[in-house]
Amino acid sequence: MRLDAEPRMISQRPVEILGAGPAGLSAALTAARAGRPVTLYERRSEVGSRFHGDLQGLENWTTPVDVLEELGTIGIQPTFDCAPISEGVFYDAAGRERVVRSGRPAFYLVRRGSADGTLDQSLKAQALSAGVSIRFREAPADFPNGVIRTPGPGRCDALDVGYVFDTEMADGVFAALSERLAPKGYAYLLISRGWGTVAVCLFDDYANAREYRERARDFFERRVGLTMRNPRAFGGTGNVLATPLTHCGNALYAGEAAGLQDALWGFGMRYALLSGHLAASAFVARTPRQYERSFRRRFAGFLRASVVNRFFYERLGDSGYARLLERIARAADAREWLRRFYAPRLWKTLWFPIARASVESARRRAEAGARAPALPATR
Ligand SMILES: Cc1cc2nc3c(=O)[nH]c(=O)nc-3n(C[C@H](O)[C@H](O)[C@H](O)COP(=O)(O)OP(=O)(O)OC[C@H]3O[C@@H](n4cnc5c(N)ncnc54)[C@H](O)[C@@H]3O)c2cc1C
Repeated sequence: MRLDAEPRMISQRPVEILGAGPAGLSAALTAARAGRPVTLYERRSEVGSRFHGDLQGLENWTTPVDVLEELGTIGIQPTFDCAPISEGVFYDAAGRERVVRSGRPAFYLVRRGSADGTLDQSLKAQALSAGVSIRFREAPADFPNGVIRTPGPGRCDALDVGYVFDTEMADGVFAALSERLAPKGYAYLLISRGWGTVAVCLFDDYANAREYRERARDFFERRVGLTMRNPRAFGGTGNVLATPLTHCGNALYAGEAAGLQDALWGFGMRYALLSGHLAASAFVARTPRQYERSFRRRFAGFLRASVVNRFFYERLGDSGYARLLERIARAADAREWLRRFYAPRLWKTLWFPIARASVESARRRAEAGARAPALPATR
């Protein structure tokens, strides 16, 4: 079947989906609730196996509507552990502290991985109860009847390394913008209900990832009294600069495989969940061009804006990071500030080609300088 030809389908043929991450599980839920049998293939032995129990932020600033409300409208219930975050403490390279606050949550802390309470397990339970069949350890190559592909990042141009741990520390969100701790990225410490994640998100110098991880650990030990019980090292990669791809031949793409990532800081979960839903709606309705249109309307401007934001962010250096933090901290509402910062704008559209070329060549230089063993498996 060629989806781009919008052909006829036998209505009860299973919808096949490749990859059981947030995008694939969201797509599976949508297709199953539309009354279609669904087969979801996952090459690993469990959902969330790409992750390690690390805390991640489900961003809530790109739209005025709350992300959990938006997920509700596409049939995803927040049955995962989820902590609203309206305050965080940020540090610049000189160690100056700034408290950032918002009226409504700027993001929700969720846990990723295979354990109970994770986003991944919650989505799996919702998919199974909607009748989705999940086939683990299977990664078929041929889908003559069409497929929704959601296999996650295709290449590594952002690297996250850190520790997950148990702790007696109080809940809190801390981050540091400093070239010494995380070149062109950021270091972060997240604590929620006795569980913690300390990590660096790097966009350069991947070869020294472990060194940055230790510096971040040391920094948060000194600044906020980080204490870890039973720390376990983890790492993961992202693809923040992929070219957006909605369909190819008989396949629709969603999530990070569709090029949906926030090039500035790597907040890709919300895009994955929404795009999975949009792809499945179009697949079931046999309107792939509708998917292309909704993709463009909902995501394209944000993707371009995030590349332009990254272009300027990479030029800030430590003094620029400090000024940026100052502005966020001085804002009456950090969520609103971030919403404007992330919003598509005409001037960003005009800057996009230059920004994209420049950021892409910086990434290639960073990849060329990385020793392969420093990079964990891509997916
Ligand atoms: C360490 C780390 C921290 C992050 N922090 C944040 C954060 O704080 N906030 C945020 O919004 N985002 C964050 N992200 C990004 C976010 O996790 C991703 O954008 C999101 O998981 C993408 O979802 P996805 O469904 O597209 O892909 P994935 O989550 O990668 O899922 C893809 C699935 O497909 C499976 N698969 C791959 N190939 C095949 C195949 N051939 N056949 C069958 N199955 C296959 C994989 O095993 C995997 O289970 C982080 C990423 C990392 C690595």
